Amino acid sequence: MRRKLAAGNWKMNGTTATLDQVKALTDAHPDPAVDILLCPPATLIAQMAWARGSHALQIGGQDCHAQDSGAHTGDISAAMLKDAGASHVILGHSERRADHAESDADVAAKAQAAHAAGLIAVICLGETLDQRDAGTALEVVTVQLRGSLPDGATAANTVIAYEPVWAIGTGRVPTVAQIAEVHGRLRVTLHDMMRDADGVRILYGGSVKAENAAEIFAVADVDGALVGGASLQAVDFAPIVAAL
Ligand code: PGA
Repeated sequence: MRRKLAAGNWKMNGTTATLDQVKALTDAHPDPAVDILLCPPATLIAQMAWARGSHALQIGGQDCHAQDSGAHTGDISAAMLKDAGASHVILGHSERRADHAESDADVAAKAQAAHAAGLIAVICLGETLDQRDAGTALEVVTVQLRGSLPDGATAANTVIAYEPVWAIGTGRVPTVAQIAEVHGRLRVTLHDMMRDADGVRILYGGSVKAENAAEIFAVADVDGALVGGASLQAVDFAPIVAAL
């Protein structure tokens, strides 16, 4: 059985003033039956780790460098995220692929660094609207998965997040049939690539809200969600966690 995962991606949002949301979330789910992960800006990781107290809330970064240390102004290594209190790191989010021209090979190198540092890599992939309309979505995500998963990836150190680019922050959500089709394809591809593919969690991401969470979570091979906007406030995220 794969343990469900509700992951929140705060993106470039949040300051110390926002940390009250951690208490609100952990108070809403004092003893969760699922994994809960929050990925704040790196500036907040250490304080969030302190704010969670003894709660099982997990904390992640939103990117890391492929190298351990060195002359890379502005970058953060996987070991640094770990040191600050993170157990996970989101890699290859479509915003990073677009804004920072990250390729599948870049994502794989970063994931390898994350694994070496003892972090769980949450590897994101998903097609654009043009690719969806052209009928190439399955092919696109298959290529991304094959290119972004590093050697040494296991069910214990890797989570996959399917996030169609056209569904992120838009309020547009694929049909449950479309989600099922992609997740099924990802599972089959994982089986081709690794031994413990059945244990790998595949999250859906893109405009997940309290209102649509239960329907999405009922889809085969959906093991949780990667949530952007609706993870910023506990009042929005807690019901999504509850729907898992
Ligand atoms: P959204 O973002 O929930 O705001 O659509 C999801 C994501 O980008 O991870």
